[in-house]
Amino acid sequence: MTQRAVVIGGSIAGLCAARVLADYFDRVTVVDRDAYPQGPAERAGVPQGRHVHALLARGRRELERLFPGFERQMLGAGAHEIDFARDFATLRGEGWMAREESGIATLFASRTLLESIVRDLLRAVPRVELVERTAVTGVVAERAPRARVRAVRLADGELPAELVVDATGRGSQAPDWLQALGLEPPANTVVDSRSGYATRWYREPEPARWPAEWWWKGIWVDPHEPEHMTAGVLFPVEGGRWIVTIAGIAGHYPPSDEAGFGAALARLRSPIIAHAVELAEPISPVYSNRAMANRFRHYERWPQRLDGFLAVGDSVCAFNPVYGQGMTTAAVAATLLAESLDRVGPTSPALPRTFFRAQARFLRDAWSLATGADFRFPGRRLQPLHRRALQRRGGRCRAAPAGRRGDQHAPPPGRLLRAVRAGARSPGDARPCLPARGGRAAPRLAGGLTRG
Ligand SMILES: Cc1cc2nc3c(=O)[nH]c(=O)nc-3n(C[C@H](O)[C@H](O)[C@H](O)COP(=O)(O)OP(=O)(O)OC[C@H]3O[C@@H](n4cnc5c(N)ncnc54)[C@H](O)[C@@H]3O)c2cc1C
Repeated sequence: MTQRAVVIGGSIAGLCAARVLADYFDRVTVVDRDAYPQGPAERAGVPQGRHVHALLARGRRELERLFPGFERQMLGAGAHEIDFARDFATLRGEGWMAREESGIATLFASRTLLESIVRDLLRAVPRVELVERTAVTGVVAERAPRARVRAVRLADGELPAELVVDATGRGSQAPDWLQALGLEPPANTVVDSRSGYATRWYREPEPARWPAEWWWKGIWVDPHEPEHMTAGVLFPVEGGRWIVTIAGIAGHYPPSDEAGFGAALARLRSPIIAHAVELAEPISPVYSNRAMANRFRHYERWPQRLDGFLAVGDSVCAFNPVYGQGMTTAAVAATLLAESLDRVGPTSPALPRTFFRAQARFLRDAWSLATGADFRFPGRRLQPLHRRALQRRGGRCRAAPAGRRGDQHAPPPGRLLRAVRAGARSPGDARPCLPARGGRAAPRLAGGLTRG
């Protein structure tokens, strides 16, 4: 046992990392700028919590391993356990899918419920403390003999730490904090297919009012290019509610006003969701989210070093959420962190490099899945360096351009499918949240993705 670890950001990635660190440190302090709500409710630091969140089978398994009792509590709080292949009405590129028993039970619940249960389970872990309403503004380090973290900076002082973990999500300021220490931040790869969500919540009608033909528990409608550049889902969640999300691809952002949202539902490839919500009661405004680009910060090949500094979750690798990978990869990263801690020890100078490399090896397949599919959308945006590199290679999107500041990691589809089917190191084990490109990718993937 040794000293204190500070985790910056108490969302899924930070909570999972803190759970693991509690086995190695005398004290683990999770600092978040938000006040945590009582129970499952929205909070400002996690605006994506209003949108559909699919938990892949691997993520469910990892969360249960990190937080025994997680599944029981989710089900007790009203999460639905659903066999997607049997219980969802699913319109793919080739038409409506036949219903079949997959044997895979997926949990459907709100992101806010999931986070609140994980947070409560972490509170019960000895040596962990959650500090709210406290924004971290920087990292404090000693420079000699080597750069080493000493504390995190707060508005009113410093919080000493032997290990600091950045889990502040997609908008992480850690690159600026590193720059302030005189360290060049890690390179970035950004692949932006200009996707966006619009989401509205509904109270589902009483079962007695359900028309006889409503056998489904949820609905999934794929896009179909070029006529239908939006997908739609209806997910049942706890409390007799539905979350309905429209996902637009390649710059076809769904409308964020109520009338426009209803009209866009009716224009999906099937009006089935529009018909369903006619019987339901809207209980929220329409929420919009367009911060959905894939971004990989390459700490694994960061030429600088800062001992005692780690990063996890979206702050390292944020995916286009239509593939539903973020929570699962965050949970798996915590297990990789435990393996690295076992290997080199919690205060070893080798810890950051060991962990960052292990994490990146794991993330590579998830990154390939998301960006490989996104590359096929017209008008996706690349970082300038990558665009030049792709042009040099004749504009082939799946190439991995050379260059010091990043590559695409997008393998040929064969490798991608094998990696996902193998299941071992992929985050998948369940279908991506919203399939890409007229649904052609997802059915091929789905077969091997759903091992529980
Ligand atoms: C629209 C949308 C839909 C998504 N759908 C899915 C899905 O279907 N399935 C899935 O698995 N994932 C999905 N994701 C991704 C998922 O939400 C994240 O991967 C997951 O929440 C893990 O993120 P995180 O913990 O790294 O960061 P976040 O959840 O973004 O949390 C960051 C935390 O850091 C705190 N913070 C930030 N700055 C500071 C600071 N300076 N000081 C202190 N605290 C700070 C914030 O308050 C917040 O609590 C979706 C994302 C989006 C945007």
